[in-house]
Amino acid sequence: MRDIPKSHPRYKSLLLRERVVEGVERGVVALQGLIAHGRGEAFYYLLGERSHPFAIRATEVALALMLTAKHPVISVNGNTAVLAPELLIRLAVEMDIPLEVNLFYDRERRERKVWNYLMQVSKSLNLEPRILIASESPAFIPELESWRRLVHSEGIYKADVVLVPLEDGDRTEALVKMGKKVIAIDLNPLSRTARAATVTIVDELSQVIKNMLSILPSLRNLPESSLYEKIRSYSNAQTLREAISAIRENLELEASKLGLT
Ligand code: ATP
Ligand code: MG
Repeated sequence: MRDIPKSHPRYKSLLLRERVVEGVERGVVALQGLIAHGRGEAFYYLLGERSHPFAIRATEVALALMLTAKHPVISVNGNTAVLAPELLIRLAVEMDIPLEVNLFYDRERRERKVWNYLMQVSKSLNLEPRILIASESPAFIPELESWRRLVHSEGIYKADVVLVPLEDGDRTEALVKMGKKVIAIDLNPLSRTARAATVTIVDELSQVIKNMLSILPSLRNLPESSLYEKIRSYSNAQTLREAISAIRENLELEASKLGLT
């Protein structure tokens, strides 16, 4: 990996970018993944590159959904795999939730590579998460054209709660139509994914998984009725409104610092 001085003002952002580039070189990330990442960087920049209260609240509700689910699953694509492999594996093991390698672009060429990569990281952590590959036991999401329909029969197909970091809008809508609760991680509060999901966490993926791991112990101590109450009182439309306000306020603040208002 290219050396990035820790003192660089955009250190974390550059580190994540390098991870995605390295993922392309490994054959784990699709070229389209670079563009998706760039769009994410832009929105993260507009949000001031921090976890806002609305994102922390959505993260808590996401965990409440995952803790109370019968069959929760975490969908993993190439970008997700390289941005937060250790954190995802820790979360999957801590919560006893399977990971499903489920790719959008260039599936046949990459899926085994993504699986191998996750297995390699798991080994280095001495952890054994359950890692499914969608095409090994195929089932199909209704209403989508063939190349995007494929899911694992024991994974996303059967799941009642699906965490889909960086998902596409059509698939999110189709999963919701199937009656599933969908948790999206998406820095763009205007995307179709963000609008269609049950819970949208408008924050950077690796930071979200980190936040999940630190919030999890306190939620685990709560009675189930409090978890259901958190879910019941949550409004995703409110989250998206607050995210859009945060972008607006941050832009005004930055502009005024530069004397541009
Ligand atoms: P949609 O189909 O939902 O309207 P889209 O076409 O806007 O999606 P996609 O190409 O499906 O966008 O996926 C890229 C999305 O992922 C963008 O909204 C981007 O903000 C988000 N994204 C990229 N990297 C990250 C990241 N590290 N953390 C969170 N979100 C990210
Ligand atoms: Mg999207």
